[in-house]
Amino acid sequence: MQKCMATTKTGEPCRAAASSGGLCFFHANPDRAKQLGHLGGRTNRKSSGVEFRLPEKPTANDLQDVMTQTINAVLSGELQHHKATAIANLIKAHSSISVDVDLESRVTKLELDRVKNAIQQHNAMSGQGRDDGREAGDEEERVVAIATAPGHGGAGKSGS
Ligand SMILES: [Zn+2]
Repeated sequence: MQKCMATTKTGEPCRAAASSGGLCFFHANPDRAKQLGHLGGRTNRKSSGVEFRLPEKPTANDLQDVMTQTINAVLSGELQHHKATAIANLIKAHSSISVDVDLESRVTKLELDRVKNAIQQHNAMSGQGRDDGREAGDEEERVVAIATAPGHGGAGKSGS
């Protein structure tokens, strides 16, 4: 196939395939090329103009807001699909980490409560005379709640 006879902006020979006039489409139609360039420029500016901001510790609501904004931006053509996919994946990753962090802090609190209860019970047995029976019951309920919490481990569902 014949190559375009014109040179590019950098002074090198144009490598595009030439049409019958010995020039490629863009060198044969410089005005059209300019027009396409402007269109491209406008599209690029528009797609990078979408801004998403999250607080330092986003809640599930914050993440949902960004997700909604992302979907709207894709639908209105302001955001490219691959960028939206990246955002969606990040949000997914963030919320799965959040579940782990939440679980971790709950377990830590539970362990602290357990130690506190043990100390209280020890004090009660050494003559303080306090009844901690109700509190211990509450703790048992929370253990069950954590064990059945969604996203916990994954092997936990085999029991039922
Ligand atoms: Zn050319």
